[in-house]
Amino acid sequence: MAEQSPEPSAGPSPTTLAERHDDNCLFCRIVTGAIPATRVYEDDTVIAFRDINPGAPTHVLIIPRTHIAGISAPEAEDGALLVALIRAARQVAAQEGVAESGYRLVWNVGPDAGQSVFHLHLHLLGGRAMAWPPG
Ligand code: 5GP
Ligand code: ZN
Repeated sequence: MAEQSPEPSAGPSPTTLAERHDDNCLFCRIVTGAIPATRVYEDDTVIAFRDINPGAPTHVLIIPRTHIAGISAPEAEDGALLVALIRAARQVAAQEGVAESGYRLVWNVGPDAGQSVFHLHLHLLGGRAMAWPPG
């Protein structure tokens, strides 16, 4: 019997992670609406909102709706969730008009990187030329 070629991909399946919130977590409180934020994108898995202290003309935080403490948490290995975050970043970059000019995606992990909120979040910065390496 001839080997069947795989079905064309319809994209990643949605994450199977159950949505959980931590009442003590700032970003969970933004997800639930308890704390206001300027949302620029949302779907079933992620939300994106403007950073309250922007480091560039465009500075958006992209986060999972469910509480994940950070890159080291086991849930951060959910492939569909990671793809959802990256797709949201691409969408936000296009909306913000920085897809062509360029932008930076940053995960701050731990004290040396200055991580201050322990709910997984991807920074999208753009709208100006940036130095490398970062300070
Ligand atoms: P981290 O330093 O953990 O990588 O990033 C946390 C980010 O959250 C910082 O850039 C900070 O400005 C932002 N931030 C902290 N509190 C709030 C808030 O209440 N609302 C919004 N929109 N951003 C916040
Ligand atoms: Zn949280």
